[in-house]
Amino acid sequence: MDPAMDSATVTPLLTEEQIRLGLERLARELTREYQNDEPCLVACLRGSLVFAADLIRRMPIPLRIDFLHASSYGAGTVSSGTVELRLLPEPDEVRARRVILLDDILDSGRTLHAARLKLESVGAREIRTCVFLEKRIEREFEKKADYRCFEIGDEFVVGYGLDYAGRYRNLPYLGILKQDAR
Ligand code: 5GP
Ligand code: MG
Repeated sequence: MDPAMDSATVTPLLTEEQIRLGLERLARELTREYQNDEPCLVACLRGSLVFAADLIRRMPIPLRIDFLHASSYGAGTVSSGTVELRLLPEPDEVRARRVILLDDILDSGRTLHAARLKLESVGAREIRTCVFLEKRIEREFEKKADYRCFEIGDEFVVGYGLDYAGRYRNLPYLGILKQDAR
């Protein structure tokens, strides 16, 4: 991306190279664990789009992919506290399978918790959570992800799929959104 579009508003946190190395490590771990199971990866839209696309191409095993659309944030930088599940995965993709629930970031945990309850109700055999980022904070729901690419502090980050008011998802690296850009 043209640096002039983001350098004034975003402070880089993870470079494309760091992200690549993190993905390779995570993909190796998942590939080993799921090689005989044909798991279904359920990606939470829209934030995990980039993560999911990069991750599955590093997992050379039979697998399936489906989606759910969860939203909680609205246009701000603080969670609204309620999670709305819109698009849902096909029950036949999930039923009796080992499911890997993917999201961009584990923050309050409400999104993954709501998604987990939905997948349980459809009859997934097992559900493990896998996030690109886990914020290092105390949380009530989904205390830890089963798999994570990176841990970060309690900052509002954008890029690599994560947005602010719909923008920045296409930034190829991760950065902290500067206060005066909000
Ligand atoms: P949770 O339900 O865990 O509080 O939040 C999960 C959702 O909130 C994520 O899927 C993401 O869309 C949004 N979110 C939480 N923290 C951040 C952040 O630092 N940056 C951005 N862009 N979105 C976040
Ligand atoms: Mg979001």
